[in-house]
Amino acid sequence: MLKPNRNYANLKDSYLFARIAQKVAAYHETHPDARILRLGIGDVSLPLCDAVIEALHEAVDDQATKERFQGYQPECGAPFLRAAIADHYRSRGVGVDDDEVFVSSGASDELGDILDLFDRSSSALVIEPAYPAYVDANVIAGRRIVHLPSGRENGFLPEPSDDALADILYVCSPNNPTGAVFGRDQLQRWVDFANEHGSIILFDAAYEAFIEDDDVPHSIMELEGAKTCAIEICSLSKTAGFTGTRLGYTVVPKTLVREGMNLNDMWVRNRTTKTNGVSYVIQKGAAAIFTPEGQRQTQEVLRFYKDNAHILMEALDKADIWYCGGKNAPYLWLRCPDGSDSWGFFDRLLNELQIVGTPGSGFGSCGEGYFRFSTFGSREDTLEAACRIADLLSR
Ligand code: PLP
Repeated sequence: MLKPNRNYANLKDSYLFARIAQKVAAYHETHPDARILRLGIGDVSLPLCDAVIEALHEAVDDQATKERFQGYQPECGAPFLRAAIADHYRSRGVGVDDDEVFVSSGASDELGDILDLFDRSSSALVIEPAYPAYVDANVIAGRRIVHLPSGRENGFLPEPSDDALADILYVCSPNNPTGAVFGRDQLQRWVDFANEHGSIILFDAAYEAFIEDDDVPHSIMELEGAKTCAIEICSLSKTAGFTGTRLGYTVVPKTLVREGMNLNDMWVRNRTTKTNGVSYVIQKGAAAIFTPEGQRQTQEVLRFYKDNAHILMEALDKADIWYCGGKNAPYLWLRCPDGSDSWGFFDRLLNELQIVGTPGSGFGSCGEGYFRFSTFGSREDTLEAACRIADLLSR
C-alpha cells in the first residue's frame, strides 16, 4: 500500500490570503459602491518594460523561422543569459562565473527545489516574521525548523547566536514582510557564523533591486567568505515585473563543498535530472533586462514603486505610526496603532477607510501587532490611501 508523505498533515492552514479575500468580499457585498484600495498585494501592477517586450517579440519570431528556431534549452540556463547575469554581478565587482549562475522559473520554485541538496535530517533556521514558503517547504520535507523571532528592538534584523544554530539558514534581505535590510557588517556576521558552524545560508535576494543605500549589500556574494557558505536565490518578479512571465536565477558557488561533495556539481546534476530548462523566449526577454537600456527602463519602473513608498511613508509619519522598510524595499511594516492586534487593525482599515493590507500575524507569531503595506499598487490608489490614512489615524 502506498504511503503518502505524512508531513503534509503537519502544515498549518495557509489561510492568510484566503481570509483576507473572504473579508473583503463580505465587505464588498454590503457596500457595493465603496472604493476599496488594495495595499495588500505582493504582485506588481506595471507592465514589462519596452526592452523586454521587444526582445520577447524577436524571440517569438525566431521560433517561427527554420534557421533561428530553438528547441530545448540547456537545463541550467541558456549561455547568453547565464553570461548576462554573471556580467551583471561582475559589473558590481562581485566575481561570479557563468557556470555558477543557474536560470530558474522563479525564486519560489528554487526555494523549494534547492532543498534537494540537503539531507532530510538537516535543520532549517527561519528568521521570523518570514515569507511563509520557507517554513512550509521544510515541513513538507520533514525537517526540524528552528524559529528565530525578531522584533522592533533589533529592527527585525537579529544577530546570529546559539538560538540560531541550524544547518540551513534562511536570510532574506531586503525582507518580506518587514522591509528591513541587513547592512554589510550585520550580514558579514551571519556569513562568519555560517562558516564557523558549517551551515549554509539560503540568501533570498528577491528584492535586491530596491536597495538604494551604498552600505547595504545587493548580493551576499559581496561578503568575504560567502562563497564557502551561501547560495543566493534571485527573482526578476519584482525587479522587472516578471511575476506572470516567470524567471529567476540562483548562484551556487563552485567553492561550496560539504563532506567532500561539491554543491555546484550536485545542483547541475539536479537540474539536468529535474528540468528541461526555462523557455527560450522568456530567457531572451530576461536577457534584455541586463542591457544598458533594459537597466535604465527597469530603474524607471522601480522609481515608480519607490515614489509610492514615499507617499505612504509621509502619511504614516503624519499619523505618527512607527514603521520600518519602504526605503530599500517595496514593503512598509508598521506597528498597529492603539495597541490593536493585526486582524483588529485589518478590520478597522477595511471598515473605516476601505483599505486592504496584510496582517503581520500571518507571517509568524512575532508579526502579531504589526501590519504590511505593499507599494506595488497604482498611483491613484496609493495617493488616495495616503490621504485616508493621514486623515483618520491622526485624529
Ligand atoms: N522570495 C520572497 C521573499 C518573495 O516575497 C517572493 C514573492 O513574493 C518570492 C521569493 C517568490 O518570487 P518568484 O515570483 O520569483 O517566485
